[in-house]
Amino acid sequence: MSLQMQSSILKEIIVHASETYPEECCGFLIGTEDAKRGIRTVSDAVRAVNAAANSKRTRYTIEPREILKMEQSVHSAGKKILGYYHSHPDHPPVPSEFDRNNAWPGYSYFIISVMNGSPAGMRSWRLSDSGKFIQEELSDGTQL
Ligand SMILES: [Zn+2]
Repeated sequence: MSLQMQSSILKEIIVHASETYPEECCGFLIGTEDAKRGIRTVSDAVRAVNAAANSKRTRYTIEPREILKMEQSVHSAGKKILGYYHSHPDHPPVPSEFDRNNAWPGYSYFIISVMNGSPAGMRSWRLSDSGKFIQEELSDGTQL
C-alpha cells in the first residue's frame, strides 16, 4: 500500500496546516487508485472546514454534507476520495484515539505534524478491517 503525492500538493497541505495552526486543518485527498498494486495517486488536496465544535486544537470533523458534495463532484470527474488529510499541532503524526474512532476502513489518513508552526513530519495510515491503523508508504517525492 502506498500513497503518491507530488511535492506541489504536499506544499498546499503544509500551507493549510500553517494557516490554521494551532488548530487542526483538514481536507480531502482526491485522485485515482490502482487497487491491484495498492497504489493511490493524489491529484488534488481540497480544503475542508474543520467542524469540530470546541476542540479544533486536538480534533477535526468534516460535515457529512460536505463529504457527500465532494463525493458527487469527484465521481463525475472519474476520480474518488482516496482519503483525508489533517494536521496535528504540536503532536506527532500518529492517529489519536478520536481519529481511530472516527475513521473508516479503506481510506488513507494522511497526518502532518506541525511543531511551533512549522511542519515536522508526516505519515499516512489506513485502517484495517480489524480497526487498527497501519502505516502506508509515501512516495519518494513526498518529503519535507
Ligand atoms: Zn488526528
